Amino acid sequence: MHQYSHSSSAASSSPTANLAPAALPRQKVVVLQGDGIGPEVVAATVRVLDAAAAPIDWEVSEAGASLFARGVETGVPQDALDAIESCGVALKGPLETPIGFGNKSANVTLRKLFELYANVRPVRTLPGIKTPFSDRAIDFVVVRENVEDLYAGIEYMQTPNVAQCLKLMSRKGCRKIMRFAMELARAEGRKTLHTATKANIMKMTEGLMKQAMEDLLPAYPDIAGDHLLIDNCAHQMVIAPEQFEVIVTSNMNGDIISDLGAGLVGGLGVAPSANIGAHAAMFEAVHGSAPQIAGKGVANPTALLLSAVMMLRHLGLFDHANRIESAVFVTLAGGQDLTGDLAPKGQGVSTNAYVDRIISNLGNALPGVAPRTYSNITLAAEGDRDLHPAVRELVGLDVYVDYIGDVYELGQRLTAHCADSDWQLKLISSRGTVVYPETNPNTDLVDHWRCRFVARHPAIALDDEAVQKLLSTLHDQVSWMHLEKLYRFDGKDAFSKAQGEG
Ligand code: NAP
Repeated sequence: MHQYSHSSSAASSSPTANLAPAALPRQKVVVLQGDGIGPEVVAATVRVLDAAAAPIDWEVSEAGASLFARGVETGVPQDALDAIESCGVALKGPLETPIGFGNKSANVTLRKLFELYANVRPVRTLPGIKTPFSDRAIDFVVVRENVEDLYAGIEYMQTPNVAQCLKLMSRKGCRKIMRFAMELARAEGRKTLHTATKANIMKMTEGLMKQAMEDLLPAYPDIAGDHLLIDNCAHQMVIAPEQFEVIVTSNMNGDIISDLGAGLVGGLGVAPSANIGAHAAMFEAVHGSAPQIAGKGVANPTALLLSAVMMLRHLGLFDHANRIESAVFVTLAGGQDLTGDLAPKGQGVSTNAYVDRIISNLGNALPGVAPRTYSNITLAAEGDRDLHPAVRELVGLDVYVDYIGDVYELGQRLTAHCADSDWQLKLISSRGTVVYPETNPNTDLVDHWRCRFVARHPAIALDDEAVQKLLSTLHDQVSWMHLEKLYRFDGKDAFSKAQGEG
């Protein structure tokens, strides 16, 4: 990993890399201990970094469930947030998130609060760790967009029975993550980059990511960029994982395939990650709080330790990073004193005993295994690359309706209702499939209907007044809960068609 810097920040090189350890300035890092096994793996990691004389002053804070219990909405105390704001670096244990109810994820809150837009998850074959893929020389990085997409967590129960989650992706967000990935590829001497999307189905949202790659590639002639569908990417990661060097994805897709990547090389216990933004960076294991093994002193701290190695490189402490990484590799390759998830059945040792072994290996290296040569990267500010269409035409209105009953009755009633207006009902769809005027008898119907209205004649120019006129009478007919205007930007439809729409 690197010291990532953005063009707006002062440091763009690694001033400390070649200094003797004693001369290095000490740097502050905020440590969020987290839930479950968090405090155990955090303590183990800090012990190794201290033993390696990393010049770091730790500022330790609680975070997660205990804070939620005290009513702290973010799950992180304000003084810890202030400290991250001021020093710009955090090492974080896993934080618990209730599934299906309760507070927002504190992890997601932190990523959004500090606009940590790049999630970097290296996946590489580790010495000594036996997996079905051990002989495949896997060495790639998943670069996942970290703040947009479904993770915006914008959800509605639009009817009592139908939930909606908005998948919001921006041109700017896609360009930022793509540029980051290309700079990372370059800094790590990688020659290929794959963008994995679902742009065949979500042509606009996921399509923006594909477009970002196509737009930026010409500026990176040293990198061969390719696009593949995310489902095929998952398949290829298993069939031929050695073909990948850098995989770029949107948030949700990246979440899933990076866990798949972790599984290829030994599991969540050894998978590190970094969350990088323009002003702050947060390093954490990919795994969660593993409540089943919490408090037993058996958790594997390797994932967080390797995340801390990424952090040291980010801080410009390349020698310390390489030394600790080598000690981990020697320990794993030695096969002695490993935690239960890695050791043969019944031979696992405690977290502490594993850490003792790593510390005893500081200064050792595996013959023939040299750390990758990392260089710093500087990211230019994106600037305004947004499109500003000269012509925006309103060409229709989708009115989402909460209704229990016969769709033909609804369709005919709405058709009759707007017969004397500028509008006509073009279709009604149910969860994306046209069900009026034609209904596929196999389509299961629910209480959620999208009624698509368009201009009665091509000559009619629709505007907000026409929208208001339609709505002002529509409420007598139906209970609507959501509206979406249909635009055409510079002559191009800016909305998708329903399944079955002509
Ligand atoms: P998890 O905590 O990652 O645990 C899944 C399983 O993986 C564990 O039961 C354990 O397997 C194994 N495992 C994970 N980390 C390990 C380690 N360091 N050493 C040894 N084994 C390890 O996933 P989860 O159970 O789905 O999620 C639990 C909680 O964590 C949830 O509240 C979730 O929201 C949260 N979470 C937080 C983060 C984060 O903070 N970034 C990430 C993911 C999940 P065995 O049971 O087989 O030992």
